[in-house]
Amino acid sequence: MTISITSLRKEFPVSSGVEVAVDDINMSIEEGEFISVVGPSGCGKTTTLRCIAGLETPTSGEIVIGGEDVTDIPANKRKLAMMFQNIALYPHMTVEENISYPLKIRGVSRKEQHQQAKEAAEIMQIPELLEKHPGELSGGQRQRAALARTIVQDPEAFLMDEPLSDLDAKLKVEIRKEIQRVHKRVERPTIYVTHDQEEAMTMSDRIFVLNDGQIEQRGTPDELYSEPKNVFVAGFIGNPSMNFLDGKVVDVNRDSISITVEGTQFDFPAHIVGDVSAGDEVVIGFRPEIVNVYPDTEQGDLTGDLSLVERIGDRVLATIDRPSGEVRATVSADNPLDEGEPVSFSFDYSGLHVFDRR
Ligand code: ADP
Ligand code: MG
Repeated sequence: MTISITSLRKEFPVSSGVEVAVDDINMSIEEGEFISVVGPSGCGKTTTLRCIAGLETPTSGEIVIGGEDVTDIPANKRKLAMMFQNIALYPHMTVEENISYPLKIRGVSRKEQHQQAKEAAEIMQIPELLEKHPGELSGGQRQRAALARTIVQDPEAFLMDEPLSDLDAKLKVEIRKEIQRVHKRVERPTIYVTHDQEEAMTMSDRIFVLNDGQIEQRGTPDELYSEPKNVFVAGFIGNPSMNFLDGKVVDVNRDSISITVEGTQFDFPAHIVGDVSAGDEVVIGFRPEIVNVYPDTEQGDLTGDLSLVERIGDRVLATIDRPSGEVRATVSADNPLDEGEPVSFSFDYSGLHVFDRR
């Protein structure tokens, strides 16, 4: 079972003309893969998923599921299970009736419905809830019931649209693990839509980063983190996010680059993304992990005012205010840093990214 999406485009008519929600998306998802589609609100994630599900008709493009072109096949014939943010469990039905509902619609015998609902409830560790009504369940239990309902459908693929966004932080992590457990067990391709890069980074085999209806980059979590292809992906993936400074290229060759930033020249090993030559305005990106902060204005390369020091585990997150914007650094908690004081900072040059300005 694989899913392949070719040149998918979806326009919506709006009063001012058309809104292009999805603009020429290509994706291919392998057998058993867990894929996340991640991007900011309004970038086209839900529309993409709804097209795959058959709930929207693409303006153009092709969707092939398990070798079959399903572009013109209605949603109920696509053998996919969907899970949404607002899980609609039917309030007047018991948990068991909710879980087995897709089987009832298919005309499966009552005995078989009961058997499968029980098995799915056991997988989700909620067998004791089968006789209860959704109103009697906690948020996490409802989510487990909803997952059980997708399991009984024995779908060819799972499609999930921000299924965790209404849960508190602790439940998020718990249900995240459940989703991964179900995925490992059934080994069906799963497309998981989220605006939360952390969810995508922790759950996925591969991630598609969407922005403004288009795919900015695709790759494994590691690839997106260590080799972002542009400023958008670099800024979106990773928490706390990458820092950026504007610079101008003085000289560039195969293995090193010289750049001036606010009057200071830096020479470092080239890690260039895109097309960069001498004289170009560029963006230098560096993650908070590679920044060193000094409690004086002399030792580092650039200066600023330490506006905030937040403890995270055995590290602190230091925010440095500068005329051109904030720089954030995660440094050892032993570092003697005081909020409100002038500081200087430098970075590990081997970890700098240079992005061309698009
Ligand atoms: P996401 O799920 O990433 O937040 P959506 O796929 O919901 O994004 O929306 C993508 C874009 O398409 C947005 O600009 C949204 O306003 C627009 N859009 C989505 N659905 C419709 C619709 N039915 N009619 C008009 N515009 C829509
Ligand atoms: Mg959405």
